[in-house]
Formats: sequence, structure tokens, C-alpha cells
Amino acid sequence: MTKTAELSEVSQAEKSVNHFINGKIVPGSSGRHGNIYNPASGELSRKVAFASDQEVDAAIAAAEAAFPAWRDTPPARRAQVMFRLKELLEKNAEKISRLITDEHGKVLNDSLGELQRGIENVEYACYAPELLKGEHSKNVGPAIDSWSEFQPLGVVAGITPFNFPIMVPLWMWPMAVMCGNTFILKPSERDPSVAILMGELAREAGLPDGVFNVINGDKVAVDALLADKRVQAVSFVGSTPIAEYIYKTGNANGKRVQALGGAKNHAIVMPDADLDNAVSAMMGAAYGSGGQRCMAVPLVVAVGDETADALVRKLKDSIAKMKIGPGTDNSNDMGPLVTGQHLEKVKGYVDQGVKEGAELVVDGRGVSVSGHEKGFFLGATLFDHVKPGMKIYSDEIFGPVLGVVRAQNMQEAMDLIDAHEYGNGTCIFTRDGEAARYFTDNIKVGMVGVNVPLPVPVAHHSFGGWKRSLFGDLHAYGPDAVRFYTRRKTITQRWPSGGVREKAVFTFPSGS
Ligand code: NAD
Repeated sequence: MTKTAELSEVSQAEKSVNHFINGKIVPGSSGRHGNIYNPASGELSRKVAFASDQEVDAAIAAAEAAFPAWRDTPPARRAQVMFRLKELLEKNAEKISRLITDEHGKVLNDSLGELQRGIENVEYACYAPELLKGEHSKNVGPAIDSWSEFQPLGVVAGITPFNFPIMVPLWMWPMAVMCGNTFILKPSERDPSVAILMGELAREAGLPDGVFNVINGDKVAVDALLADKRVQAVSFVGSTPIAEYIYKTGNANGKRVQALGGAKNHAIVMPDADLDNAVSAMMGAAYGSGGQRCMAVPLVVAVGDETADALVRKLKDSIAKMKIGPGTDNSNDMGPLVTGQHLEKVKGYVDQGVKEGAELVVDGRGVSVSGHEKGFFLGATLFDHVKPGMKIYSDEIFGPVLGVVRAQNMQEAMDLIDAHEYGNGTCIFTRDGEAARYFTDNIKVGMVGVNVPLPVPVAHHSFGGWKRSLFGDLHAYGPDAVRFYTRRKTITQRWPSGGVREKAVFTFPSGS
């Protein structure tokens, strides 16, 4: 049995998820904890320690102590650690995806897909020696050279949401540490186990103690990170109200902050679209992972009533064929929602949609999964005639609820999207290149797809929305991450010659 496996089994046997500080699992000592559920069975499965100010302080101290040596480690050496981490993540893929499914609920293949997208960010981080090369100008004046280099910030922190418990942390910390920083992760309290396993794998890959730390907890831990002067920068991904709070508080405390928030992504289906293709794409985009994705598409704007009628008919037929059940069975299309509390919230939105006068075409509220009657399951739900002004139109529901909105032309559809509070992702289904080009040029959204429902940028681009989906200037991962996790220093240097060459005497060794 490997060292990693042993440690994980000890943690699981204790039924408690602790902290990972300075290369070691540290049991929580605050006396406060949260509950972790298995969403498929509805049972309480583990407890997670909630850190106190003192525990956060210990993690920051460990990260601060590790910084000088790590900053001075050549980027190529740091990259070797990332290569090994990539291999370990791949080797442990089954264990990682099972842990995600056990706490999040998503279908195992989805968990594996999430891990794969995370690994792509580790691969990108391996390019650090190339990405950190800097800029150089010779002879900006007589005998004067000038260059810019990108120096690490010091201790940086990441605060992450429940819906991608390994991918979103991997958006952050590999690039942060590859740039020479040390890192503290505060994962979601709903599915935190995989973060601890990641710490163990990082240590096994050869990452020095203190370079990557995990603090579990709630607002207390987050506020301690935001208040501490030693933390130079904060990356956040989560809901918009918390993103705004993190951004404002972090900025007020002199930190660099990027805070990615919530979303309500629209797709437009044009009358000329390949409707079968659009429906199949929408099924995955609306209901995959139970709709708990910031790039999910919970609104589809059909242009023209004929398009809308055909779309609703085909969506309804596809929903009838969906298989819902525990995420551990890969033949299921959709697993449960993350917690009972979240299930009740999403059901409340369905009630609200009915009250607001939208037409409930498919009602997922009655779904029960045999053998998993206490699981947090909600069936795929479809509304037609959803309109601006309704809560189910404006709010991020974060569940398997898709609303069809009707527009008479493309401009009306685009105006709806532009007027919405969020601007994370969007997509158009069409066969018309001119319409697609007009859409990508003009729509006020950060990530745009053409016949691609989830236009999530690959790891060598950067990820981020517009409007209230992102607070800050730089997007997550990719090239923007190098800028976010480093500080530019520009050096101008003059070495007047003073006749050095004339004065120097060069002789070849003669051997005599
Ligand atoms: P959340 O905002 O509830 O929690 C995110 C993190 O903030 C967690 O670590 C949590 O512990 C912490 N937190 C929660 N309340 C806090 C408070 N009052 N003070 C300080 N910290 C607090 O989000 P969630 O429910 O875990 O995740 C779902 C949300 O994340 C959705 O809104 C989704 O759109 C968003 N999300 C956005 C992106 C993106 O890239 N834009 C990606 C994934 C998820």
C-alpha cells in the first residue's frame, strides 16, 4: 500500500476531514465542524473541521516560511514537481473521481472529466520556465539595457466552490506555485476530502512542505485569510454575493483579488439551427451535473414560435429518456443535488416558476430513485414561456431546471442576454456564419460558443465572465494567471564601457 493510500484511509476511518498544513494532516482543534453528506443516500458521511483564526495563522506561517526557498528554486525544478503531480493525479484518477462522486453526487464519468480538465491546468503550469521568461530590450539608451521580470507575490490564497472540488483548485494553485508563490486553499465545506488528497499527492510529487496548504472551514477561515497582511492575493470562485464581498474586503485590505461569481447562461436557437444537434447539446448543458455548473445553460431563447414549439417538443421527448440515479452508476445521465438544503432551494424555484405563470412542461419534483429514497434527487425540469421579470429568469437556480424563452428575432434575443446581470457564458445555434459573427462580435459575455454549448476555454486560454460574473481585471488560469500571480519589476541598467576593451590584455594560454 502506498503512503498516500494509507493516509487517506486513516482520514476516512476517522470519518473526519482535517487540515493539511506544512506537509502534514493536522486534526482540527477549534471544536467547530460541518457535516458532509452522501447526496445519493442522503446520509451523513463525514465531518469536516472548521478552522479557527489560530489554525489559519499556522497555515499562513507555514506558507510564509516556505516562500524564500521556493521563490529561489529554479522554475525548471518547480516544473519537475508538476510533471510528477500530473502523473500522480492520473494514477489516482479512480480514487479521486470516487471521492468527488461520494461528496458531490455527480456521475463518475463527470468526476473523471472534471479531473481531466484540472490536469490540463497542471500541464500548462509545466510551461512555467517559458511563461516566466520576461521581456528584454537592449540599448534603450546608450549602453543602457532594460528588462521586465515577473516576480512572485509571496503567500496567496484560493477559496473555491463545491461544484468542481478538484478542477477549480487546480485552476489556481499549480500556476500560483509555479510562479514561485506559496499557497493556502480553502475548499468548499460540502466536498472537501479531495483537497486533502491533493495535498498528499503534492507532497508525494516532491513539493516542499508549506508550499501548498489546505485549511478547511467556513466564513471564519475566509475572513482570517482576508484580514491577514501576509496574504498578498486571493483567487475566489463561488456565488456572486460572496465574490463581491471577497473582492471588496480583499481590496480594502490591500490585496490583489480576482473573484469569479455566478451565472445565468443563455443559448440562442435560431430558426436555421440543426435542431437535433441543439437539443442534444442543451440536454447536456442544462442537466449535466444536475445543472450545478457555472457554465450550465439554464435558459434557451428560441427565435420564432415555430422554433420554440419544435424545441420544447424535442426536449420533452429527450427528458423522458433520461436516467436518474446515483453517480456511482455511470449509466445514469444525472445524479443527485449536493445537499438536502440545496434540493429544497431548487424545488422552491420550481414552485415559484409555476406561481409566476411560466408553463411547467416537465416537473422533476416527484422523482424518487428506488433504493435511494432519501437521496437528494430532482428530475429534469422544463419550463416554457419564461420571461424577464420572473425569478426563474433572473436568479441563478443551480439545479436541473431549463427555461425556454421566446423571442421574435435575433436582436431581441441578444438584448435579453445583454440586459442580464450575469455575463459568464453564452452560445448560439445556427448555420448562418454572418449571424454567428455578429453574435460573437457584439454580445456582452465573457465566453461565447457557436454551436458549442459550454465554451469553457482550454487551459492555455483564460476563463472568466463579464458583468457581475467576475470582479477583478484578470481571468482565471492560462496566461492571465501568470500576470495575476506575479508582480512586474522593470530594471534599467547602464554599464558605461570606460574603455574596458582597450585596457584589457587578452592572451591565449601558450602552454610554454
Ligand atoms: P459559495 O459562494 O456558497 O461558496 C464558495 C466559497 O465561499 C466556499 O469555499 C464557501 O465556504 C465560501 N463562503 C460561503 N459563504 C461565505 C461567506 N459568507 N463569507 C465568506 N466565505 C463564504 O458557492 P458554492 O455554492 O460553493 O458554489 C456555487 C456557486 O459558484 C455558483 O454561484 C456558481 O455559479 C459559482 N461558480 C462560478 C464559477 C466561475 O468560474 N464563475 C465556477 C464554479 C462555480
